[in-house]
Order: sequence, then structure tokens, then C-alpha cells
Amino acid sequence: MSDLPLSDRAGWAADGAISTLMAQAIENPDCLSLAAGFVDPATLPVELVRAAAADVLAEPRANLLLQYGTPAGAGRLRIEVLERFATLEGVPTEELAATKGLTAGRVLLTNGSQQFLSLIAQVLLNPGDICLVAGPTYFVMLGTLAGVGARAVRVETDGDGMVPAGLERALDRFEQAGELARVKLVYLVPDFENPSGVVLSQERRTAILELLERRDPGGRIHVLEDAAYRELSFDGAPSASLWGRDPGDRVIYAGTFSKSFAPGLRIGYGIAPRALVQPLIDRKGNEDFGSAHFNQHLLAKVLESGKYDAHVEEVRDGYRRKCDVLLAALDEHLGGLPGVSWRTPAGGLYVWATLPEGVSTSFGSPLAEAAQHEGVMYVPGELCFAPESADGSPRPAHDMRLSFGVLDAAGLREAAARLGRAVRSVL
Ligand code: PMP
Repeated sequence: MSDLPLSDRAGWAADGAISTLMAQAIENPDCLSLAAGFVDPATLPVELVRAAAADVLAEPRANLLLQYGTPAGAGRLRIEVLERFATLEGVPTEELAATKGLTAGRVLLTNGSQQFLSLIAQVLLNPGDICLVAGPTYFVMLGTLAGVGARAVRVETDGDGMVPAGLERALDRFEQAGELARVKLVYLVPDFENPSGVVLSQERRTAILELLERRDPGGRIHVLEDAAYRELSFDGAPSASLWGRDPGDRVIYAGTFSKSFAPGLRIGYGIAPRALVQPLIDRKGNEDFGSAHFNQHLLAKVLESGKYDAHVEEVRDGYRRKCDVLLAALDEHLGGLPGVSWRTPAGGLYVWATLPEGVSTSFGSPLAEAAQHEGVMYVPGELCFAPESADGSPRPAHDMRLSFGVLDAAGLREAAARLGRAVRSVL
């Protein structure tokens, strides 16, 4: 193996976390997974997709839907996405065009939002460049950053998200070290963060952008707003984005139809700053010529049909109910244990649980083994913290991400009971 002429990049991308979790699941089919971030299979919109596929194939020139598309994506879906985005922003498309110069030409369709995140990393970051992240944050993005040779650096974070003063201290530290020019990106998942469920408070959204305007008036440091869970608020109200309060072209917005509709279609999108549109399209063209053309028309048909909103509402209600089931079961099986706590999310798919500081949740720990023995899986919290932190704080290893996405109510109750036994056995 060591003689393989692999590129440096192949080595940077090596990250065993997901394969370890998947191998555990395959080895132990009776295992109940609170680990997978998958959506609820019961909500997957088979009938809507069946009807939309039939309708779209009955259109004139349907054969061309099976032809190649374009790297930026089908115009028809880009327009629908723009309208959807305008609804989330609470601002009509005409006003977005007038005030922010936003047109469908700046909407790029990608293979899930994951590809958009990856394209952003590729067009903005050289090896050694720095991306500031919350701690914890979306662990797949940590792999994406590592994969382009970038340094993900953790900034102080609490129950309201990234701490603006911590971000400023991080900028100070890099300035003193002569490395400020290497800081190119701040990655934020402001709505129901994967993994912590935390919402970046409205005050902090404003404060972070104001801070960056003050410290970097030229807009060289971009903010990547990953809004994957924005539509999954349990009360149905989308929060005001960072994008909407950006006075310039600093904020890059990533959205997806995976969580609200169907991840199997692999359709995500990005709203790109003007200067990044062409570099992103060029990069995407190099990778795949464009995302699956047929799927784009199919999703456009669903959006045009007006049936999407009712579907999202059902999905949201379902997750709110399942979240309540998991929280009640955690109360029953883990409630009152000293040093054990968890956060109540207001949306998304995850509950973040914390054990006493000395009790590791990492792969190979006594807890991980006890959980495997009991037949329950979680995502070890450590994976969600970038190893490097701006303030030198150690990487915590005593949390876990519990997802209520996949299991049904009975499965969630049983998984919590198993987890309770595993935790009690190591305390
Ligand atoms: N961002 C976050 C925070 C996520 O949790 C996910 C999916 N787990 C994604 C992006 C990517 O999802 P997709 O590629 O399916 O849009």
C-alpha cells in the first residue's frame, strides 16, 4: 500500500470516522442507531416523487430531461430555489434583486449542499489557509477542510453559538502570529447546528458580521452560512439569516432539499457572492458537468406543484414529536445522573448530551464498548471538535450526538434505555 503513488490530497482526505461508524452498524445489525444523521424513512415523499416524475416525463421534449444539463444547474429549478429562498428570507424576489443584486444566476445547484461546501473549500482555501469554526461543528465539514489541506480552528462556543468575543480573540491571535492573511473563512451552521442543536442567537449573527466588517472591511474573510436545518424549526418559523444582514458580498449561503424533502435526490444549492459565481461553476464543471439533470426537473415540478410546503410541515411536526419522545426517554433513563445533561433543541435532528468531564465517549472508550455491547450507537462528540483551538483549549471528549431522525418512537425509547444502561455501567 505504501508504494501507491497517492497524491498529498488523498492523504489529507483520509478520515476513518464515518467508516468506523458504518462498520459498527454493519457488524451489529440489531444495533439501534442514534448516530446516523439520516432523515426519517417514514417521511420520504414517495407519492409526491412518483407524481412529479410522471408529470415531468409527460412534458413536451421530456427526452431532454435525460440529456446532460449544465454545470450551474437547470434554470427552471434555479428560479424555483430563488423563490423558495426569498420566502425564507421574507423578502420578495424583486426586492432581493434590487437591494442585493440577487438573481437566479447566482443560485448554483449541487449534489447536495455537501458538494457546495466542498466547492467553496476548493475555490477559497489553499493548503495552510485557516477556516474558523464553532466547537462543536459539523464533523463532515472538518473532513472537507482537511481534504483541501486547510486548518480548521475552533473558536469559543456556548449555548448561543460561536462567541463573537472569542472570534475577535482568534483574529487577534492570528494577527500577532503574522497569520491573519491565512484566515479566509468562518464556517457557521446557525440553525439547529449539527451536532449541538444550538441556534446562533440573532444578536450574535449581527455581532459576528459587524466584527468582521470592522476587522476586515475589504470582505476578504468570507462567512459560509450552512443553513441545512433552517426549514426544520419545530415552530415552523425560519430565523433571519446572516446572509440577509450582510451589507456586502461576504456571506455565502448553502441550502439543501435533503433534510426537508429527500436526500436521495442529492440536490443542494448555494447562493454565491458575485465574484465567486464563475470560479464555482468552473470548478463544478471540472468535477461532474452538472448535477443529475432529471432530478432537478423532478424537484422543480414538486416545487411548482405547490405541495412542498405542506410536506415540510409534516416533516417538521414528525421531528418535533420524535424529539419529545427521545427527550422523555433520556429523562427516564439518564435523568438525575450526576454530571449528565443534554440540550433541548428547538429544531433539527439532534440532541447533544454531555457526560462528566472524565468520562470519554470516544471510539475505544469503556462507554463506546458498553454501548456496542448494549446495541446502541451514537456519534462521539470528539469528532465534532476541530483538534486545533484558537484559545488553546483541549478538545472535549465527553459529549455525544444523538439523532432522533431515523428511529421510530419505540426505537428511540429502546435506544435510550440501552444508552442509559451503558452510561450507568461506566459512571
Ligand atoms: N450541512 C450540514 C450541517 C449537514 O448536517 C449536512 C448533512 N448531514 C449537510 C450539510 C449536507 O447534506 P446534503 O449534502 O445532503 O445537502
